This record gives sequence, structure tokens and C-alpha cells, in this order.
Amino acid sequence: MLLLIPGPVQTRPEVKAAMAQDIAPWDRDFQKVYARVRERIVGVAGGTPGVHATLPIQGAGHFVTEAAIRTFVAPGAKVLMPMNGAYANRMARLAREAGRVVVEVPLTDTRGATAADILPALEADPEIGTVAMVFNETGSGIVNDAAGIGDALRARGTRLILDAVSAFGVLPFPLADHPECDALVFTSGKCLEGMPGMGFAVARIDRAEACAGNAGSWSFDLSDVLAHARRSGWGSIRFTPPVQAIAAFDVALDLYEAEGAAARRARYQTNADILYEGAQALGLKPYLAREHQGPVIVTIHQPADPRFDLMEFVEALKRRGVLISNFYNTAAPTMRIGAIGAITPDDMRRAVAAIGAALDEVLPKAA
Ligand SMILES: *Cc1c(COP(=O)(O)O)cnc(C)c1O
Repeated sequence: MLLLIPGPVQTRPEVKAAMAQDIAPWDRDFQKVYARVRERIVGVAGGTPGVHATLPIQGAGHFVTEAAIRTFVAPGAKVLMPMNGAYANRMARLAREAGRVVVEVPLTDTRGATAADILPALEADPEIGTVAMVFNETGSGIVNDAAGIGDALRARGTRLILDAVSAFGVLPFPLADHPECDALVFTSGKCLEGMPGMGFAVARIDRAEACAGNAGSWSFDLSDVLAHARRSGWGSIRFTPPVQAIAAFDVALDLYEAEGAAARRARYQTNADILYEGAQALGLKPYLAREHQGPVIVTIHQPADPRFDLMEFVEALKRRGVLISNFYNTAAPTMRIGAIGAITPDDMRRAVAAIGAALDEVLPKAA
């Protein structure tokens, strides 16, 4: 089966094989693996050892995003968010339910946000101390201009929290160039092609120290994760982690380094191009204009034919060996197809052929 979803992604056999073992989290051999993973992540993030640290939270991406918001935005403080997709909506809900005041800048989900989109709202309200935003909006496939927004925030003294969950490893945002960024967050199961199960924040150590006491939650306190590492060592983890997913992630990092960041990004871009053009050749309409299409996920309008049913189509495609999302989260009805994971351009060409065949099955031409 080809898994064409934007996480958890298709993984390589070596990554799956690394999970086939029993592991004690506090075992010295495992602690070495965990400490090494944390160190390697700072490197992938373009961070500076001693300035940045990897502060993990077990579980789904939303958990580490909530932890970053709770830690770096004080209770009752204002956080501005460019709202242009499903994951921005989720971030706003996490922040609101944590008692932070969200200032929303409503935007369309068909193009990435830029500094010009949010600066007027920032200037209008000097109480806003932080911007929290999604880098690659996995709802539609647009890419927000994280570097441009970061530069503008740095010039103003505003802090940044970046949800880089579906971008990390392929869309560059080198933390050493972005001291305005308190934390970027990502997970093990997206562009680094590991198993799901771990969330990671790469955060500024000075800010994590200064923000101790903000979180209002022991589970979601990145300052406490840092304090624990200082006390018990970087190979030690609070609470039981998905040890097999961490062991697999270490192997996934080997494969990522062997491929190289630029080559992985180019492979995803080629996958996305094949999908985008393949959909057009089948008479389908991509949701985004070409210039706003990122390399991670391609969303395509559902056929206007009233007989089209997404669930039925997904099952017909699955019978042909390709699994895509059976839901969508764009403003208009779409199909969402991931371009990331251990997928080659040849896989993608086969997937496009399968999409054509599945469409013919669910929308038979009149005899
Ligand atoms: C996948 C993803 C998340 C996290 O999703 P979980 O289901 O909580 O792991 C967050 N933000 C973005 C942009 C994502 O793509």
C-alpha cells in the first residue's frame, strides 16, 4: 500500500525494523540514543548548541504545540495568529482553552501569509507580545512566509512560536538566524519519515528558563522538561515515552542525513509536481494556484459530478494500492494527497494512474 497522507507518513523498512525490540526508557543504552536524537535535532533545526535545546513531549503534535503556547505565552497574554487554514484554527483553540487571548488575523486558505498581512494588526495592539503561526498549512498545502514574518517580528521585538510540524526538515527556518523564535515544534512522523508518537520543540534555553511558571500544567511545561534534563541528564525523559518510536527516529535521522535536506525537499517537490500536473491531466482542478502550491500536500477539488462520494472514491483507490485521506479540511470540498514520506516519483506516477482508474470506477461514463 502506498500511504499518501501528510502524516503519519510511509516509512522505510529500516525505520520499521528498529521498532522490533523491547526497551527500558531508563536503560543507559537507550538514554544514549535519546540524548543523541535530541542533539541531532538541534542540528537539523539550524540551532546553536548551548542556545537551543530539544524539549520533547510524548504524543501527537497538538500536545507539543499546546506545550509551546502554554510555556512561552503567559496566562491571559495576547498571541496573534494569521488564520488561513485548519491547523491555524486548531492552534487558536489550543491557546484559547489554555486561557491565552488569541488575536486572529483572518486570511484566505489559498495563499501563504506574509509579514504585510499581520503587521497592521500588530501595530494596532501593542499588548501583543507573541505571534504563533503554522509554517506549512497542511489543511490546503500553502506555505506561510515564516522567515519573512520572523524578520519583521525580530525588528519589532515580538516573539514567535512556529508550528513547523509538516515543514520541519524540508522547509528551512534556521534557528540561529531567528533569535525571535522561542520555539518551533514538529513531530516524528512527518517529513523526517519516522513513526508517530513524539512531539519535539526546539526552543531557546534562555526563554524556557525565563518562562518557568507560565504553563499551568506539569504535563505541558517545556520549562520543566528543560529543568528535568538539567537535573537528570539529556538522555532522561519525564514520564514513559514511546521508546520504539524514538529508536526508529534515530534510524530515520540516519536516512535523512544520508539523503540530505535539499535532496529530500527536491523529491517531495517532484512528487507534488507529478500530482499537481497529473491531476490536471485527468481533468481535475488543484485547489491552489501553482505559485501558492507547497511541496508537502496537494489538495484537489472534488469532481463537481453529484455522483462523486469521497469515501467511495478513497475505497476504490485503496483497492488499487493507494491510500489518501478520507476527509478534507479546506474551505471547499477537496481531496488531500500527501507528497511526503518514503515515496518516490515513480510511486507518484503509479498513484496518478490509480487515481484515474478509481475515478473511472466511481464515475462511469454513460454507455
Ligand atoms: C500534523 C500536524 C499537526 C499535528 O497533528 P497531530 O495529529 O496532533 O499529530 C500540527 N500542525 C500541523 C501543521 C500539522 O501538519
